[in-house]
Amino acid sequence: MKLVIKNLSKTYANGVSALQNISLTIPQGMFGLLGPNGAGKSTLMRTIATLQEADSGSVFLDEIDVLNDKQAIRERLGYLPQDFGLYPRISTETLLDHIAQMKGIGNKGERKELVASTLNKVNLYKERKKSLGTFSGGMRQRFGIAQAMIGNPSLIIVDEPTAGLDPAERNRFYNLLSELGENTIVILSTHIVEDVNTLCSSMAVICKGSVLMQGKPKEALDKVEGKIFQKAIQKSQLHEYREKYQVISTKLHEGKLSLRIESDGNPGNGFEQVQPDLEDVYFSLISTKVDLITI
Ligand code: ADP
Repeated sequence: MKLVIKNLSKTYANGVSALQNISLTIPQGMFGLLGPNGAGKSTLMRTIATLQEADSGSVFLDEIDVLNDKQAIRERLGYLPQDFGLYPRISTETLLDHIAQMKGIGNKGERKELVASTLNKVNLYKERKKSLGTFSGGMRQRFGIAQAMIGNPSLIIVDEPTAGLDPAERNRFYNLLSELGENTIVILSTHIVEDVNTLCSSMAVICKGSVLMQGKPKEALDKVEGKIFQKAIQKSQLHEYREKYQVISTKLHEGKLSLRIESDGNPGNGFEQVQPDLEDVYFSLISTKVDLITI
């Protein structure tokens, strides 16, 4: 099974070109879609989830024409949107039953069993009579996963999932997601490199509506191997270093700036070579497209 996106474009009425000829092949497993805010991730996710129209291009899940056969894809889709604030007063159980019905599971008895087993999987069975409005951020996310996984979807889309979760909740969420990834295509859209690093076997980076890379994280790392150098400098020196070197990221550490640059050869001047990580790959790709970010 694979999802093939070809030449997908979308320009909003205000003239913003959110997707510019996007082509991606997404295999089974967890796929990380990385990009800074405004890159076009949500637009792409919503288009695949049939919630909005593209101007041109195609999306196929194997033989299913996603953009033209919306009902077929909706029956196979699990979608966890960025903001899951629907129906705060309905009980968890009732809402999940309703979602199962919308996904085409008509038999009431079958649905009841499915709802119970799904709530068990995400550890919310005990809270089944409570409404979403009473849940913590982590519980809401787990409900989000429950509603996305109900009905055995072959494609699951998760948009910016870990915002607002504390570290323990985030860990639980990661575990649940990676279980899902084994037999389905799970697209995880995020601006957090670590989420992709932890979970995804393949990935793409998009920025300003274009694909900057796609492949395996390891392949991406190989491209910058031996080219990343680091040095601690004073904050006031940043401008001078930016003029001279290809700065890919800066991090504040004990009041000084830890600067990472990309260079084909050893730059000298006190820089030391470091083992690249996925963040270096990401910042190296997007640094040519957006203003540098200080973390
Ligand atoms: P991301 O999810 O990567 O942050 P989005 O897909 O939300 O990116 O946005 C991509 C670009 O499209 C941004 O410049 C955003 O402001 C713009 N955009 C998103 N939705 C709309 C909309 N409904 N109308 C106009 N512009 C939009």
